Amino acid sequence: MWAITFLLVSQPVAARPHEARIALTFDDLPALTILNDQAYVDYLNLMILRGLKRHHFPATGFVNEGKLDELQRDRQIANLQRWLDAGIDLGNHTYSHESPNALGAEAYIADIVRGEPVTTGLLRPYGRRLRWFRHPYLETGFPASVKRTIDGWLSTHGYRIAPVTIDADDWEFAEPYDDAIARKDVARQRRIKAEYLAYTARRIEWSIRSGRVLFRRDIAQVMLLHCTRLNADSIDDLAALFRRFRLRPVSLDRAMRDPAYRTPDTIADKEGTDWLERWAILKHRDLPEAGDEDPPADIQAAYDQVDNDRR
Ligand SMILES: [Zn+2]
Repeated sequence: MWAITFLLVSQPVAARPHEARIALTFDDLPALTILNDQAYVDYLNLMILRGLKRHHFPATGFVNEGKLDELQRDRQIANLQRWLDAGIDLGNHTYSHESPNALGAEAYIADIVRGEPVTTGLLRPYGRRLRWFRHPYLETGFPASVKRTIDGWLSTHGYRIAPVTIDADDWEFAEPYDDAIARKDVARQRRIKAEYLAYTARRIEWSIRSGRVLFRRDIAQVMLLHCTRLNADSIDDLAALFRRFRLRPVSLDRAMRDPAYRTPDTIADKEGTDWLERWAILKHRDLPEAGDEDPPADIQAAYDQVDNDRR
C-alpha cells in the first residue's frame, strides 16, 4: 500500500486530455516590493520557492542585479542562490530595469551586460550560463533599428528572449498588498488578493481564447509573474487556477518548443506589448475584447496612492 502510494505521488503527472502547457516566469528578483526590509524579501523568496516545490512547478527567475545593493548584498545574493538550489534557472532582466526607449540600443545593451556578473558566477558551479533574457516592461526597442540591434546582440551572445502571453499586471496589485501588510490591515490584504486572483483568472482565460484565435488550438502559454509577497501568498490559489483552466506548468524550454514560438517577432512598438498582441498584429487578427480589461479601478487608485506616498 505504501509503495503504491509512493509511486503514485512521485510519478510526474501525465497530461490529461486537453491539458495545455504553461511556463511560469518570475521577474524582478531578488524581489519587487515597496518595503525596504531584508527579512521580508528573504521570507517571500522562501515562500515562493516552497510553494513551487509543493506543487512540483518548474519556473524561471529573472534577475535585476541592480537590486542587490538596495538591501544587504550578501543576503540578496543568497536569495538568488536559493532559486538555483531549488533547481530553477535564472535569466537576465537587465541591471537597472530601464526601458530601451529611454536608453537607446547601445546603453541598453550595456545595461544587459552590467546585469550579468553575479548571476553568471552563481550559474557556473552548475555548468550553466545565462541564456534567457526578459525585457523590462516588455519593451523590446523602438524604432525598428533599435529593436534589431538589441535582438542581434542578444542572439550573438547566446540569449533567448523569454516572451509573455499571460500578463495579469500582478505588480499593480502587489504594491498595495505590501502596503496593507505594513499597516497590518488584514481585511484589505484579503480583498486585494481576492481581486488579484479574480483578475488573473480573467487574464488566463483571455490568453487561452486569444491563442485559439491566432493558432486554432491551445498553445503553450508563458506567464509573467513577479517575485512579490502577493505571489508568495498566492501559489496555492494560482495552482487551483491552473487546474481550473487545465494548464500544466512546464519549463520555459518545454513551453517554447510549441511551434507558436517560431512565429517571428517583428513588432517594433513603443508600448510593452505581449506576444499574443504582437502575433495578432502580424497575422492581422483581432483578439477577443472581453477579458482584455485593465485591473479594477480601486487597485489602480491604490497603486497610485502607494506610489505617491513613496515620493
Ligand atoms: Zn521587471
